[in-house]
Amino acid sequence: MKELKTAICPKCGQEYKGVPALSRMDGKTQICADCGTKESLDSIGISKAEQDEILAIIHKHFGTE
Ligand SMILES: [Zn+2]
Repeated sequence: MKELKTAICPKCGQEYKGVPALSRMDGKTQICADCGTKESLDSIGISKAEQDEILAIIHKHFGTE
């Protein structure tokens, strides 16, 4: 069984568990999965409002907070 580490995301300041995402900004900063998703969506031109909608759908289906 893998141990889930808790870390603070430097981007949103929230505590998260599990596998971090790598920030696209510098390629080495570890951020939470949500921020990783947001950066990806941002890079393909999705607006902030749409990003929040997509994240809400992801949370609904995968049960993460
Ligand atoms: Zn974050």
